[in-house]
Amino acid sequence: MTEPTRVAAAGGTVSAVLPFLAGGTDLIARAAGEWIDLRDRTELTGIAWQPDGSARIGALTTIAELARDQRLRAAYPALAATAAELATPQIRAVATLGGNLLQRNRCAYFRAGFACHQNGGACCPAREGIARYGTVIGSGPCVAPHPSSLAMALLAYDATVEVEGRGHLPVASLYGEDPTRDHLLAPGELLLGAELPPPVAGERAAYVRATGRVQAEWPLAEAAARLVVAGGSVVLAAVAAGGVARTPVRLPEVETALLAGAPIAEAAARAATRCAPLPETRYKVALLTGTVEHVLAKAIAD
Ligand SMILES: Cc1cc2nc3c(=O)[nH]c(=O)nc-3n(C[C@H](O)[C@H](O)[C@H](O)COP(=O)(O)OP(=O)(O)OC[C@H]3O[C@@H](n4cnc5c(N)ncnc54)[C@H](O)[C@@H]3O)c2cc1C
Repeated sequence: MTEPTRVAAAGGTVSAVLPFLAGGTDLIARAAGEWIDLRDRTELTGIAWQPDGSARIGALTTIAELARDQRLRAAYPALAATAAELATPQIRAVATLGGNLLQRNRCAYFRAGFACHQNGGACCPAREGIARYGTVIGSGPCVAPHPSSLAMALLAYDATVEVEGRGHLPVASLYGEDPTRDHLLAPGELLLGAELPPPVAGERAAYVRATGRVQAEWPLAEAAARLVVAGGSVVLAAVAAGGVARTPVRLPEVETALLAGAPIAEAAARAATRCAPLPETRYKVALLTGTVEHVLAKAIAD
């Protein structure tokens, strides 16, 4: 691979519309040209603990650090477990929180430069071609699932993100059904970090992914679950899924069933109620409900 041109962030001489370079594991694979290199922005790195026990994670913090930080693992186990299992050790060592949240989708047509919605065209070639990795929730014109596992985990924690010049926003507001893009930040907007609410005592949590091969693969479906059980009843339920929709999604129908005392399998089955599969993604309905059932069982056993 040729060494890409890099443009330093300092100096204020570069155009604000150049993309930011963080770990580069997504950007370098799909784009050539000039970037604003964030890697000397050390103030965007690391986990800071607030007086109320909550965490603020800098956008340049690596995924490996999220996975290995002992305090994060205790306070936010679903996030740490997700970080520990996504991608590969090599990717996790350099990829960052910000880059993970803002990475582009994995649709082969988009990546190969087809004139799809994401590439400035007006069609979705996957719909007419190979759609088996596509969405099973939602009916948008683009069927590429959102690729960010960390976005799904942060959604399960009702986390916020901080965007330079815009302040704190719910993590969900980074994403939408717009078929032309994978996140809603404007070019040149800098993600500074993410904040989590204070940890919840007694949280049981788990992360489960269903993949087409054992390693180095994005999930076909994934789920993160957080439960608090008291007196034999579920008193807190937060369940999120990824790999299935244009955005990471919470599954309120599953959460409501758990809080009402439904058995795990019955609650997990509720995830199917919002599915609207393509002909080629019908298999993902069972994959999603099975993944949710698995993650709930794992969280209960935690
Ligand atoms: C084999 C393989 C398997 C993988 N499996 C998974 C998986 O299961 N789950 C998953 O979530 N990911 C997976 N990934 C993707 C990987 O996690 C991402 O490539 C990585 O997280 C991107 O982070 P980065 O720091 O390298 O981002 P970069 O490549 O540097 O940037 C990605 C995008 O984000 C923008 N950006 C980065 N930081 C900022 C910022 N602070 N503010 C504004 N914009 C910013 C960049 O401009 C770019 O558009 C996999 C990757 C590989 C190669």
